[in-house]
Amino acid sequence: MKVKIGLLLCLLLLSDFVRSQDIEYAKSIVSTLASPEMKGRGYVQNGDQLAAQFIKTEFEKIGLKKFKNDYFQKYTTSVNSFPGQMKVLVNGNLLIPGKDFLIDDGSPSVSGKFSTVNLSPADILNRDRLIKSLKDSKGKFIVIESYDATNYSKEENESLTELINYIKYHPDNLSAGSVILSKGKLTWGGSTEQNKRPSFTIKVDSSALPVSELEFKVDALFLPKHKSQNVVGYLEGERTDSTIVLVAHYDHLGMMGSDTYFPGANDNASGVAMLLSLARHFSVEKPRFNTVFIAFGSEEIGLIGAKYFVENPLIDLTKIKFLLNFDISGTGDDGIQIVNGSVYQDKFDLLSGINTEQSLLKEVKIRGEACNSDHCMFHLKKVPCFFIYTLGGIQAYHDIYDKSETLPLTEFEDYFKLLTLFIQKI
Ligand SMILES: [Zn+2]
Repeated sequence: MKVKIGLLLCLLLLSDFVRSQDIEYAKSIVSTLASPEMKGRGYVQNGDQLAAQFIKTEFEKIGLKKFKNDYFQKYTTSVNSFPGQMKVLVNGNLLIPGKDFLIDDGSPSVSGKFSTVNLSPADILNRDRLIKSLKDSKGKFIVIESYDATNYSKEENESLTELINYIKYHPDNLSAGSVILSKGKLTWGGSTEQNKRPSFTIKVDSSALPVSELEFKVDALFLPKHKSQNVVGYLEGERTDSTIVLVAHYDHLGMMGSDTYFPGANDNASGVAMLLSLARHFSVEKPRFNTVFIAFGSEEIGLIGAKYFVENPLIDLTKIKFLLNFDISGTGDDGIQIVNGSVYQDKFDLLSGINTEQSLLKEVKIRGEACNSDHCMFHLKKVPCFFIYTLGGIQAYHDIYDKSETLPLTEFEDYFKLLTLFIQKI
């Protein structure tokens, strides 16, 4: 009896050990990919290249097979980048990049001191005042006051958006650039183009108002033919007539100047950690079907890596039984959201049923179509797919605060378990 209890204890401890090893593995992937050494996995200081190399090494360790003798599927893309100086002074006060301001992702370089023309929403909506202000703004920066959209009608908001875009981007406008003052959260992006004039979003509370003088020293670099890559590997399954495809994008926004990087822990180091954890799992427990693992590049600048893959597929797209795209997998306090859930109701019911049966996540929420991540490129080619992201918890997103130190991976283990069960039953 004693021996049996001992054995049971030992087995329990062992299963706990295996589980904790998995979460430790996921944590180490997130902290490595979101570390300063990875440069935000973008287009400054080889960030995307470094991340792809790291994932390639993990694929090798796990023992994934290669297509065409290479884990990399190479492509080129244009992209705008900010590799150098990123200095912004408002009324003589130096601002902190990422915290106090963001540069519009398509901005060109800008250098020098500028006087300003300040516009309120009322000025913008008044045709005569706007025309006069635009004439006065030649060689100056237009500063648009922050406003609360809820104070304006739907039509006014639509006009404001359209006119602000005109001010920012239209070639006829002779201003030197624009500044949008904001009280809201700063959320950055990426661009495959470079605009004619620079534009910035500045936090209102970071500077004394009104903004009367602006000074910039900003280096932008447009890369017309940047070389990047998807990382692709596969495992053979019991059956080879269909394929399961699991994907997560590894790129993020990179750097805004030489000192400020966007870690992208939740978006999407966490999804890559899920992808790699699943690859490890299925390298031991043989999957039912051939299973392809893809870490996509250049998602943030317009689903570029995924688009390249569907146009140059390494597998027969018509044989894909199902594709799962993992993005933002680091929380889950409020469950997970299933994009395309209502398109593939039977698969949604299967997933949701397993979750209830096993008492895993708080909720599996259904959602319709959304072209908001890499799955969309496959969805447009009629490949059945879900895009899954976690809900609740920390809200850092596309900002300097999306760090591994504060990403809890709260429900990662239960989410992982749900996926392993679901994938074997698809
Ligand atoms: Zn993402």
